[in-house]
Amino acid sequence: MDNEYYGGEYDYENRIVSSRENPGENDSDNSIRPKTIEEYIGQKKAKDNLKVYIEASKLRSDTLDHVLLYGPPGLGKTTLACIVANELGVNIRVTSGPAIEKAGDLAAFLTNLGEGDILFIDEIHRLNRSVEEILYPAMEDYSLDLIVGKGPSARSFRMTLPRFTLIGATTRAGQLSTPLRDRFGITLKLELYNTEELASIVARSASILGIAINEGGAVEIARRSRGTPRIANRLLRRVRDFSQVNGAEEIGFEEADYALSRLEIDGLGLDSLDRRMLETIIKIYGGGPVGLETLSATVGEEAVTIEDVYEPYLMQLGFLARTPRGRYATKLAYEHLGIAFTGNTPSGQQSLFDIKQ
Ligand code: ADP
Repeated sequence: MDNEYYGGEYDYENRIVSSRENPGENDSDNSIRPKTIEEYIGQKKAKDNLKVYIEASKLRSDTLDHVLLYGPPGLGKTTLACIVANELGVNIRVTSGPAIEKAGDLAAFLTNLGEGDILFIDEIHRLNRSVEEILYPAMEDYSLDLIVGKGPSARSFRMTLPRFTLIGATTRAGQLSTPLRDRFGITLKLELYNTEELASIVARSASILGIAINEGGAVEIARRSRGTPRIANRLLRRVRDFSQVNGAEEIGFEEADYALSRLEIDGLGLDSLDRRMLETIIKIYGGGPVGLETLSATVGEEAVTIEDVYEPYLMQLGFLARTPRGRYATKLAYEHLGIAFTGNTPSGQQSLFDIKQ
């Protein structure tokens, strides 16, 4: 089984409903990124807790505990980290796990921090081991162990760092090593957004960007944005392109529906790749179970991307079930694709033990 099943090329990276940032998107995103906690829509639980921690740290005039944010890409982890810095009135330095290659790179970041500043490390699960080990004493005792020189003349120095807050972001907390995870005092999980929240985000972005949109248009874009603000903002821009070219004065339901259908994003926000993934499970693997690695090889997408990017939304829709035996397409998925249900229905204990491969 290989990619030929799909016949033709698919631009996975620039997929319109990708929750990862597409190249060049960053600049235009900055103007619509919320700057204060009040502007940050949704995530009530995480936000309420964070407000208390921020307030408490201000009252004690102490630095905020280290914070771990986890959830799928595009849900607002970087945005929230910047808001925390803003609310605390401190500086933030932003970097990412893969960007810090050597222990020295991290040391440079840490030594440049001021008292109370925030270091934000995106994709913190991708830090390499030697870098991670530098982070332990830095997080715990605000100290940095440096080794100067090589061989017998090597000496180690301990340097005191300013009291800082590390905010780490990851797509899954389970990917973090235990010693690192244990050093975060605060762990917050970000959830996929509901349609109402996304519609508010679309309306807010539209007003900043000067795009005329009515409620019907905002809701339609929201419904098809896979629970993800980054996608909602991207779809808003694409819908604007279509309606401008078509001479529409305002984006309403019809303009949004037309543009999104042209982009092959269906009524639930699935694109051709999602549908093909479900079709693969149904047509090639009889509805499941199919192991993640097998699925990854068949659809030609990395296993981590399938897990982090595609599956959370398909599971939220109830189209995909993840069990220890593998992935299943559910009856709802068959219905959505218009295929008669012939698969297995994983449920509770049965999914763990009883279903034959
Ligand atoms: P992550 O770091 O989780 O990948 P980002 O913080 O970069 O996600 O958010 C992606 C984009 O979505 C941001 O540019 C921002 O404009 C928008 N966004 C995210 N969360 C919210 C929110 N709660 N309210 C409004 N806009 C948001």
